[in-house]
Parts: sequence; structure tokens; C-alpha cells
Amino acid sequence: MSHHLPQDTAPLEPPPADTVIAPDHPDYDTARRLWNADIDRRPALIVRCASPQDVSSALSRAQTHNWEVAVRGGAHSTSGASSIDGGLVIDLSTLRGVSVDPVARRVRAGGGALLSDVDAACQEHGLAVPAGIVSHTGVGGLTLGGGMGWLTRREGLTIDNLLSAEVVLANGDIVHASKDEHPDLFWALRGGGGNFGVVTEFEFVLHEVGPMVDFGLFFWPLDQGSRMLRWAREIIPTLPRDLNVVLAGLNAPPAPFVPEQYHFQPGYALLLTGFGPTGQHAGVAQRIRTAVPPLFDMVSPMPYTALQQLLDEANAWGMFNYEKATYLPELTDEAIDTITHYVPRKNNPLSVTLIYRLDGAYSDVGEGDTAFGGRRTPRYSVFIIAVAPEPEQLPAERTWVRDFWDALQPAAQGAGAYVNTMAEYDDARLRATYGAAKLARLAGIKAEYDPGNVFRHNVNITPA
Ligand SMILES: Cc1cc2nc3c(=O)[nH]c(=O)nc-3n(C[C@H](O)[C@H](O)[C@H](O)COP(=O)(O)OP(=O)(O)OC[C@H]3O[C@@H](n4cnc5c(N)ncnc54)[C@H](O)[C@@H]3O)c2cc1C
Repeated sequence: MSHHLPQDTAPLEPPPADTVIAPDHPDYDTARRLWNADIDRRPALIVRCASPQDVSSALSRAQTHNWEVAVRGGAHSTSGASSIDGGLVIDLSTLRGVSVDPVARRVRAGGGALLSDVDAACQEHGLAVPAGIVSHTGVGGLTLGGGMGWLTRREGLTIDNLLSAEVVLANGDIVHASKDEHPDLFWALRGGGGNFGVVTEFEFVLHEVGPMVDFGLFFWPLDQGSRMLRWAREIIPTLPRDLNVVLAGLNAPPAPFVPEQYHFQPGYALLLTGFGPTGQHAGVAQRIRTAVPPLFDMVSPMPYTALQQLLDEANAWGMFNYEKATYLPELTDEAIDTITHYVPRKNNPLSVTLIYRLDGAYSDVGEGDTAFGGRRTPRYSVFIIAVAPEPEQLPAERTWVRDFWDALQPAAQGAGAYVNTMAEYDDARLRATYGAAKLARLAGIKAEYDPGNVFRHNVNITPA
């Protein structure tokens, strides 16, 4: 591999004043903020990159100053992987351009685009990329770790729909990765996180979605959790792929569709989205009401873009967060007992447990086809999320997350966890998540593309 790092001695175009933000810049405190308010890091420099060449120059500058590097997409990693004390942040937040080719059904999105940018542009043509369920999340981090959401059962993970990527490598080279160019790199990008380079552009295949879709939220009080989860585990695997389910342990939001007497009531919810005929969604909604009558429900058609934004406010920037996740191959009785023991024991009304179902198109993809961290057999991904408005409330909630997670591990059977949620990890967890063979292959590709481990502020794959 050649080494084309532009050197600081070379005459670089001086960047516009506000693209390089040092600690004395008036925007420094805004620019260094991350989604998770609990992460308070002070980079030596934040560089807003508008092109792959900018990224290349920023890498060179970091090397010259011996600064460590962090790459910032949508800034949503709960662990704060996108910032670094005393290092250089490659900030992609201005790389948000999206261009849709409705005939070829492809979309190109900048490495710093948010899901909302992609949704808005694609929905103009009735098209969508499967991604996550909160629209202010970054496409960059979400994609590189996998990407799961409302369309996972129908169209697979976000990475299953990635066609190519423009990547700035650790040595400053700008390359294109696809199944025909740098195929090893392309494989590694699909699940290996930000370990292999800075992606300045993603290209995805598009699917017909909406513009109107069906949504249903069903809510039960705490004492119905066990019954609801037992029913849900029977019904979910039998649903057509056009229907998607997320289960939740949460407090009812103070939303207009929630009867006022239930605002903030703790309980369980089933979120049912429908991308097929409305009758199909309505039929399942009716089955839910008959089988385990909810306290209240809300069933409504809505634009796909509104579905994507439905949970945005509940997941706003500025809260103090901590999160752990685990896969469950099955919702066993033991798992349900653990869930229903811990959900009522959270301390803060905003903390939430989410259980995504992964099957259908997710399971059509071969284990070795992508670098995704997680087996492709049908499973659940459980997210235990502490959300506190005040920092002093976080320690107790963090303990709740950890105790809950520990208690779920027997039911998880060593299945690992979604890498996009990992704050703490060790070799054993990475091995459980990727499997030994995939992890070894990733380490080999890392040794080829980033032998010096420049990109290490992530769920790090150490070079072989
Ligand atoms: C409110 C909320 C909702 C979420 N919902 C979902 C969901 O429904 N489904 C789901 O799958 N995940 C979900 N996630 C998890 C999400 O996938 C991760 O937080 C992901 O890291 C977010 O990516 P980002 O670009 O916003 O984050 P960042 O913190 O900017 O980046 C995360 C990691 O990716 C790297 N990175 C980011 N962009 C690039 C790039 N262009 N090139 C190279 N490396 C890059 C960073 O260096 C860092 O290591 C959610 C997270 C939050 C906070």
C-alpha cells in the first residue's frame, strides 16, 4: 500500500476560519458536545471536514502533532467514541449531502449524514434505506456497526444494503470499496465499525417504502409484562416480514395519544410497524387486543418520515446516558423472569429497555457474508438504557443497567452484543460477538489497512 499522507510542510489551502476549532474558538464548547451529556471531552482540535481530501489533511496534521484521532459522525455513540481528550476530532458533520438515483434505486450519503437527511431525500421518491428508529442518529456509526430498525425483518441490516463506500485510509489514501474493489475492506466495513478508515460517502440500495406506513403502540401495566412477553414470543416469529416488532419496558410518555391518567405510568409496550397492506397490520393489532388486552393503544397510519421521527424527542440530546446490550437467542421463561424483575426497578422514568427482533431478511444473509458482530440466526437484541436528566442520577441507573445485564447473561448463552452499544469490552466479549474466525479475519484486514491502529477510538479491533 502506498503512503500518500500530505505533509504539513506541503502548501495546504488554508481552511475557512470556522472549520478548525481549537479550545479558544467561541464555538468550541458547542462543537465538542456529544449526544450523551455524560461524556465531556476536550479535544486539542476539531476539524470539520468537507471532503475526503480534508480528512486526509486532518490525518496528516494529527500525525505531525502526534495527536490521537477520533472520528465523529452523528455523535450518538453512548460511549463517546467520537471525541477524545487532547486529540484531533475529524468531524464529518458538514458532509451531509445525499443524492438519490430513483431509477437505479441507489442513494449516496455523506459520511456525516443523519438518518433524517437520507429519509427525507429518499422518501421524495417513495424509497428508503433500512436504518435505525431515531432520525437524529448518524448514518456513519450506525452503518459501520450494522444498523437495525423498523425495516430489519423486511430488508435486513443497513450493511446488508450497502453497495460501496469511499474511504480515507489511515495513511491518507482515498479508496473506493465495494465487492469488486478492496473487497476485504468492503467486507470489514460491514460490521467492523470505524476501525478501517473514515467513510466519506456511503452508497446504498433503496427499497419501496411508504410514503404512508402503519404504526401501533400497545401499552400494558407492569403486572401484565410476563403475560405480554410470553404471548409476543409466540406470535412474533410467525408475522410476515412487512410487520416489525420492538418490545419495550418504559414509562408511558406524556404524549397526546396517551390518556392523561397514564402519563409516566411504568409498564411494557409493543411497537408494531406495518409496511404492507393496512389490513394486515390491523389484523395483528386486533389479535393483540384480544389476546392480551392493553391498558391503551394507538394505531394510526403515518408518513414513513414521521415514523422515523416519532421517537426523536424522547431520545433528545443532552441527557446523561449509559447503556449495555445483549443478544438473546430466545425469549426463554428465564429471560422473561429476569426482564420483568428488573424493568420495574429502574430509578428514572426516562430509562428504557428495548428488545428488537432480528429475523426474516436479517437471517437470509450468510454468517460470513459480512463482518457483522452477531450470528444471523433469529434472535432478539436487548438494549438496557439509562437516561438521566441530571448527572447525579446516573450512577444509580448505571448500577441498574449492569445488574440487569449481568442477570440476563445466562439466557444470552454467550451470544455477544451489538457492537454499536459497547462501551466496555474485552477480548472475550469481542470473540463472543464476532466469533473467533471473523475476529481473526478482521484483525488481518486491520493489519493491512491500519497497521498503526490510528482508528482505535471505537470498539477496537487490534491489528493482527
Ligand atoms: C438515540 C439513539 C438511538 C439509536 N437507535 C438505533 C437503532 O435504532 N438502530 C441501531 O442500529 N442503532 C441505534 N443506535 C446506536 C447507533 O447505531 C450508534 O450510537 C452509532 O454509533 C451512531 O452513529 P453516529 O455516527 O451517530 O455516532 P458517532 O458517535 O459519531 O460514531 C460512532 C462510531 O462510529 C465511527 N464513525 C462514525 N461515522 C463514521 C464514518 N463516516 N467513518 C468512519 N467511522 C465513523 C466513530 O468514530 C465512532 O467510533 C442509537 C443510538 C442512539 C443514541
